[in-house]
Amino acid sequence: MEKELAIIGGGPAGLTAGIYAARADLKTVLFEVGMPGGLAASTEIIENYPGFTEGVGGPELSMNMEGQARRFGLEIQYAGVEGIKKEKGNFLVLTDEEEYRVRAIILAAGARPRMLQIKGEKEFHGRGVSYCATCDGAFFREKTLAVIGGGDSAIEEALFLTKFAEKVTIVHRRGELRATKYLQQKAMDNPKIDFAWHSVPVEIKGEDLVREIILKDVRSESTKGLLVDGVFVYVGHSPSTELVKGLVELDGQGYIVTDEEMRTSTPGLFAAGDVRKKLLRQVVTAVADGAIAAVSAEKYIEGQK
Ligand code: NAP
Repeated sequence: MEKELAIIGGGPAGLTAGIYAARADLKTVLFEVGMPGGLAASTEIIENYPGFTEGVGGPELSMNMEGQARRFGLEIQYAGVEGIKKEKGNFLVLTDEEEYRVRAIILAAGARPRMLQIKGEKEFHGRGVSYCATCDGAFFREKTLAVIGGGDSAIEEALFLTKFAEKVTIVHRRGELRATKYLQQKAMDNPKIDFAWHSVPVEIKGEDLVREIILKDVRSESTKGLLVDGVFVYVGHSPSTELVKGLVELDGQGYIVTDEEMRTSTPGLFAAGDVRKKLLRQVVTAVADGAIAAVSAEKYIEGQK
């Protein structure tokens, strides 16, 4: 199948690129393997996206972006992309069902939650270990939880989990949180939240379900058990760049290096959103990337004609 532009990823960056590309009349297809909205869709409430005095639900914002893109005629395929090949001025985008020949690609595949890589984590995934408070929080009414991490995600989700849980212990490897001061203060003020400072989890234990997490004090190296019913892991993200390994320049952490126009080191291949090297990974910067990437891709395609 022939198209002008393929957008890979239907989060805020990809959907915004789709809105701009569709309005520019580019023959575009967007591929999304899960639900639209990416990580934003699994955030209960987004409080710092401008224009919403009381914040906006992540799922609601995502559905609105998707609806807006469709209104301008964007074709969205709910399919996983399995490979990208470069081919004389074009790219081939391979899904499990079809092969698309396109002039340009915007990779907006985002980032995935990082795992702890400790004993018991895989075994209890779905049985007390979770990476999504919005998805699983309601299963833990009146329960005791641990949230691992000290960044914005960990603190925001710990706050959300206090809606259900009786107690939430934030486990952080340092004595100071990384999260923004506003979130830090909200967590400190919340009577259901306490902290295990200078601690890292080393094992998750249980029988059918999680029952205990073993924490190591990084200063003394001593370990102790914490009885919990659930463990929510928020220790950062890894960029989803498997499709472009070897095709584009990556930074030391595996994020795609672009210029201000979202161009990667390969002409015709653009990147937008959390997948690229940048200072701030939020919805507001993802949508800006998406808009710029679409305009750049349009210029590139026009220049090829
Ligand atoms: P992050 O900012 O990279 O924070 C990851 C946290 O996990 C850090 O506190 C880190 O500790 C800790 N950590 C990393 N590896 C660990 C390990 N192996 N064991 C134990 N702890 C570990 O990631 P994030 O919170 O997912 O946020 C990602 C991006 O999204 C950030 O730019 C963030 O600002 C943004 N975000 C923004 C909002 C918002 O604005 N409301 C909400 C969510 C996310 P150290 O602090 O010691 O490094």
